[in-house]
Amino acid sequence: MHAVFLKPKKEESVRRFHPWVFSGAIQKIDGQPSEGELVKVLDSQGNFLGIGHFQQGSIMVRLLSFQEEPIDENFWKNRITEAYRMRKALGLIIENRNNCYRLVHGEGDGLPGLIVDVYGNTAVMQAHSAGMHKIRNILAKCVVESVPEIHHLYYKSEATLPFRNENAPADGYLVGGFSEQFVALENGLKFYIDWQHGQKTGFFLDQRENRVLLERYASGRTVLNMFCYTGGFSVYALRGNAKLVHSVDSSAKAIELTDKNVALNFSDQRHQSFAEDAFKYLQRYEKREPFYDLIVLDPPAFAKHRDAVSNALKGYRRLNRKAFEMIRPGGIIFTFSCSQAITREQFRQAVFSAAAESKRNVRILHQLSQGIDHPINIYHPEGEYLKGLVLWVE
Ligand code: SAH
Repeated sequence: MHAVFLKPKKEESVRRFHPWVFSGAIQKIDGQPSEGELVKVLDSQGNFLGIGHFQQGSIMVRLLSFQEEPIDENFWKNRITEAYRMRKALGLIIENRNNCYRLVHGEGDGLPGLIVDVYGNTAVMQAHSAGMHKIRNILAKCVVESVPEIHHLYYKSEATLPFRNENAPADGYLVGGFSEQFVALENGLKFYIDWQHGQKTGFFLDQRENRVLLERYASGRTVLNMFCYTGGFSVYALRGNAKLVHSVDSSAKAIELTDKNVALNFSDQRHQSFAEDAFKYLQRYEKREPFYDLIVLDPPAFAKHRDAVSNALKGYRRLNRKAFEMIRPGGIIFTFSCSQAITREQFRQAVFSAAAESKRNVRILHQLSQGIDHPINIYHPEGEYLKGLVLWVE
């Protein structure tokens, strides 16, 4: 196995179990490890620190273990079984009520570079690193063997891998095969999941608990679900007896999915959808009488990288300001940022500035994060990507 030596003092974060080795921390590499190969990480004196997947780029090693142990099929199976055991123990898998959840959340489950979402008897697996991509067939086998409910595994990594591997197969089934659209159950509500054509793995599971919270406050309210994607928040608002729900997304495909999901659960006329840009939609409402008294803002990541942070913060400020300006007195706003590069504090500041600019009195009711099937490794604070605030606007 090739060895990667770290510069003196640069081993501190690895000693504190942070799973990433940045290129700037590396003193020298013994030999020429190939993309995705296992390497040993050593300090400048040659003492063992960990084993991980090598990859050219800013993060050069994703650490899998801090002990000298074989990284073999048994290792993968143990990690995946442990991930499954936790979801089961937390009561996430309930027959006839909840059959979709994230089984593996990368660093949060000790498996950097790997995502596995489960929809009933199908798992959708995504590799974010060359190392995980290389061993996709072993991982697929381990997932199916560890989770008795899973009979099909769809591999969807074309868009998530940092390289276009000419030899890599296109997205497709590694186990079984199931091409029809699937209806998943989330807290008793039905959702069509289209993992082949949908964004990410087809559904945003990370908002599950926040959707439950929204249901609690929806009764009698007129709701705007901005950036609705598959309409998750809209469907929960309708079950929570919202008076009226408007769903907005710039993607016509997303609006189509939202309409289908609403129709799958309700036959009444309380829902309307709009395939339109968020800012254009909000502008149209600017001069009208305040109409909404519950607004959800769940935009895509405005900052995918650190150098985009300042523009992203301006974007959050502008978006939230519009919401503050248009919400009725006594209204509630659910506002989110899923940008990993933006801290909780930065997001709060952007939202608070927006509130101040709109001259509304605002109080925090809840501070939200991602669901329990997206656990955060305490040594990898970057894993806390979803940040949300529930606000009362006087
Ligand atoms: N709230 C959703 C997830 C939102 S993902 C859920 O719970 O499932 C972000 C969504 O924003 C995507 O569906 C994307 O199509 C949409 N989007 C991106 N840019 C937009 C824009 N400028 N205006 C409106 N929608 C946009």
